[in-house]
Amino acid sequence: MVIRILPDEVASQIAAGEVVERPASVVKELIENSLDSGAKAIVIRVEEAGRRMIEVTDNGAGIPNGEIAMAVARHATSKLASAEDLASIVTLGFRGEALASIGSVSQMVITSMGQGDQHGMILRVEGGVIGKPEPAATSPGTQVRVESLFYNVPARLKFLKTEATERRNIDAVVSRYAVAYPEVRFTLEQDGKVTLQTTGGGDRREALSVLYEARVVRQMLEINSNYPESGIHITGLVSPTSETKGNRSGLTFYVNRRLVQDNSLATAVIQAYHTLIMVGRFPFGALFVDIPADRVDVNVHPAKAEVRFRDSAEVFSAVQRAVRRGLLSYSTVPSIEQHFPTPQEVEPGRGFEIPQAGFPFSDSGSIAARNDALPRSAADLPGVLESVPMLRLIGQIGNSYLVAEGPDGLYLVDQHAAHERVLYEQMMRQRGERGNSQQLLSPAVVEISGESYRLVLDQLPNLAELGFEVEEFGPGAFVVRAVPTLLSGLEPERALRVLIEDFEEDESPLEGEHERKIIARVCKRAAVKAGQALSAAEQKALLQNLEGCQAPRTCPHGRPTMIHISLGVLERQFGRKGAL
Ligand code: ADP
Ligand code: MG
Repeated sequence: MVIRILPDEVASQIAAGEVVERPASVVKELIENSLDSGAKAIVIRVEEAGRRMIEVTDNGAGIPNGEIAMAVARHATSKLASAEDLASIVTLGFRGEALASIGSVSQMVITSMGQGDQHGMILRVEGGVIGKPEPAATSPGTQVRVESLFYNVPARLKFLKTEATERRNIDAVVSRYAVAYPEVRFTLEQDGKVTLQTTGGGDRREALSVLYEARVVRQMLEINSNYPESGIHITGLVSPTSETKGNRSGLTFYVNRRLVQDNSLATAVIQAYHTLIMVGRFPFGALFVDIPADRVDVNVHPAKAEVRFRDSAEVFSAVQRAVRRGLLSYSTVPSIEQHFPTPQEVEPGRGFEIPQAGFPFSDSGSIAARNDALPRSAADLPGVLESVPMLRLIGQIGNSYLVAEGPDGLYLVDQHAAHERVLYEQMMRQRGERGNSQQLLSPAVVEISGESYRLVLDQLPNLAELGFEVEEFGPGAFVVRAVPTLLSGLEPERALRVLIEDFEEDESPLEGEHERKIIARVCKRAAVKAGQALSAAEQKALLQNLEGCQAPRTCPHGRPTMIHISLGVLERQFGRKGAL
């Protein structure tokens, strides 16, 4: 074969493949152009999931009459003049590739009128062949109409998913940009039906209802943290701990309002929820990372969906801290109010049993009197706006649950989950301190093989922090000289094995993640079990310790430690108020 330079159309088509992978990529590029032009309203019309037609119309600055032919040339942009400008990009576009790429794989018509123009211009591009611009009657702004996408690239067509999937992809792009630009009015019409519409009213939470149900949006938690050292500002809305998803796809990230894909940011958020939601469940939400333009490289990929941070650890940590902070200030007790079965729903004989004896709720006057004294002020606890209220112990039931009275009704506390939480926070605090370790009278040799051996080896420094004194003792064996005080009741071998039993192998465990899992595991092992009778003093101490926790409402594995039954619910159930 002879080496030759590819004809221009072929080169364009190859380049187009990187920018325009599917109809949703066309929609994304055209929306970005409209946003860059300062549009306040954007209408997107799509037919047959974009294969037949995609049309984006905006009321932005428009393209000046004389420049319309330039706009469709490859590497032609009004957003960038020199290489230095690349370091300070504030627009969504900058590569000057989108219109050229789209035009090379479709039949495209651009109609636009610039701000100073008397009339508009129209320009057709077909399979990369650029027509002659002609005057046209139009209003200020731009319309790009793309028909028969990929008509000249059959290979691309073959790779498209079903119409339903492509339609969902388009919906996802538009809704995600609608969330990021609540001040812009978005309308999406698919096959003649409006499937998405925002008001352009500027409220982020309101715009978020294009992604989630209104009921969920109302409960979402606002994140807002500033890190002046790095110039990073994190804002957004994330799911409350009571709402989760089965995978991480519900997390959307924006860097300087650009929609980006970044797995590590998602991991940062997931870590922030660690111990607050169940293992295997995931949070969702929209997070905005604002960072000085010179600290992020947006020119990593032709589709501009990825970015590279100058200091990614710094961004990771900012996101994680911001979300964690938001979560701790909002966490709420799961309330029985939402799940309380009505008598009709309860099978006879299997009702929600409420013990009859020993409940001092008959005298509602005394409860009201206690109300002002009881709630603990949020300000008492640094960094925690709302904690559990001060609880008055009533007793233990089923050797498993503590019953307590709070300012508004009854609290049932799972003694095992609560104790796990208490031990977990204690251990996190006491890492590396003296006195958290118990020397063994005679060192024990423990044989551990394979994966587990490497895990222990990797975790030796963390184990030491936790109070283990463990050394490698030839391949496949360790000698244990001391164990954490919490585990001193166990055989040394058991104590070490507790940590590694069915240790879930993460794809890539992150800094600190293993340690936290190990601690959670130790605590699970050391916590009082369900079915264990506790003395009154032990019950009381457990409640008090729980009140002192930073995240008292969940155990380290994310299960609730307590259930609240409000006085209102009790009154309704007894038919005193709002009778059923
Ligand atoms: P880029 O966005 O990277 O500059 P594009 O190929 O997407 O490259 O667009 C080329 C140029 O066409 C832009 O720089 C801009 O000047 C102009 N343009 C494209 N779309 C619009 C629009 N909707 N409104 C105003 N100008 C536009
Ligand atoms: Mg562009």
